[in-house]
Amino acid sequence: MEIICPIDAQYSDQIAALLKPPPPLEKYFEELLATRQCDGIKVKPTPRYGKGVYAETDFKEEDLVLKDQMLAGAQHPSNKVDCLVCSYCFCFVGSIELQIGRKLYLEQLGVSPIDECHMQKDCYNSDSSVGEDDSDVEDQQVSGECASSPSKDKISLPKDVVESLFNGEMRLPYSEKFSMPPIVSCPGGCKENYYCSKSCAEADWESFHSLLCTGEGSKSLSTKALQKFIEHANDTNDIFLLAAKVISFTILRHKNLKESRHEGKGKQVISESIDFSLLGEAWKPVSMGYKRRWWDCIALPADVDGSDEASFRMQIKELALTSLQLLKEAIFDEECQPLFSLEIYGNIIGMFELNNLDLVVESPVEDYFLYIDDLPLSEKGEVEQTTKPILDALGDDYSICCQGTAFFPLQSCMNHSCRPNAKAFKREEDRDGQATIIALQPIAKGEEITISYIDEDLPFEERQALLADYGFRCGCSKCLEET
Ligand SMILES: [Zn+2]
Ligand SMILES: [Zn+2]
Ligand SMILES: [Zn+2]
Repeated sequence: MEIICPIDAQYSDQIAALLKPPPPLEKYFEELLATRQCDGIKVKPTPRYGKGVYAETDFKEEDLVLKDQMLAGAQHPSNKVDCLVCSYCFCFVGSIELQIGRKLYLEQLGVSPIDECHMQKDCYNSDSSVGEDDSDVEDQQVSGECASSPSKDKISLPKDVVESLFNGEMRLPYSEKFSMPPIVSCPGGCKENYYCSKSCAEADWESFHSLLCTGEGSKSLSTKALQKFIEHANDTNDIFLLAAKVISFTILRHKNLKESRHEGKGKQVISESIDFSLLGEAWKPVSMGYKRRWWDCIALPADVDGSDEASFRMQIKELALTSLQLLKEAIFDEECQPLFSLEIYGNIIGMFELNNLDLVVESPVEDYFLYIDDLPLSEKGEVEQTTKPILDALGDDYSICCQGTAFFPLQSCMNHSCRPNAKAFKREEDRDGQATIIALQPIAKGEEITISYIDEDLPFEERQALLADYGFRCGCSKCLEET
């Protein structure tokens, strides 16, 4: 059976043009690097893999090679109960009390992480009471959904204590040492996105969220359709949410480019046919990422038999088509039609599959309890009378960090080696969603900077099998020695 999407047939030329690997655009990457924290790296063509990142200066072991900003990223839905972070830069927001109170509150409600966003309502705004969500509690318990299963080691706190933590009435000793930016709501009025600052809220709105917001100010065609798309992604694969962000990003960039082009021309030229050259320009940041179709590059799960591979890949393709159709109803844009082809959708998701880094931001709540634990004994006893019951209620969960996935345009240009000279590593001070690449050993000027895409300690054959999913056979020094 052949899966057909009409846009694929109608715009096959435009789609092929968008997917053509761009020539290594050294100037483009130079401009991008100028906006990043890094000294002395360059993106250059390589004979083997198209492009690679090279040292333009000497790096010492543990030197920072690059801090890369994500093109698009998302917190895992299941992590949203545990951590409240800025939806744009992923730093923690609110306060220690709010982070703890909110998590325990949602756990007491038995909120499934997926439903959590619909239930939060106005509880972060100081003028509304936490109690107003009580009506929803019944529904949740009836439906029996409970994702964060209470661990037997946890000793729950009285409801009123949890609420006073959540609404800010209760202050914990020394929490001011771990202050976080106050919460800024979504300008579109949804109760799903929150920010650390007005500038993050605006940047997210302009880059992605105006089309993907389910609030009253949404610029989508239908927030109902959007809701359906989001529910489908939450039920199946949250990578679709990231793909929607990339499509929304491209549509919004296209709109801006078009407006500035018209301004330049003065008198508007009205043309019947759609000019897709502008779409190519809007798509440029995404075009740089190495891509394959998702259903072609996804690794076969261990529980799928090799003989069922073809039907597994077909199912993945069907799943993508269902998601794409839902997204199309929500944010379709006529002038960006090729973006809504299955080919492009599959390639965007495949790009995440092949390039994404885990998004991890350490929790200040963990730091807080470590700090309390380190207090001089004379003081600790008294402080712990307040903090111990809270730690008992959190159990091992006190240290849960923000978790998600993100695509980083410059990091994604770094090629693989089973003997890498750099790695992604968060230092103590890296408290947001940026990727940090650190030198593992001295790197001399002119050397290629490599990272490992897989566990480089695996045996040779297993490494090659994993790397085959990325579409290449590794010829690094370690692999050459082992053949
Ligand atoms: Zn932020
Ligand atoms: Zn919103
Ligand atoms: Zn290798």
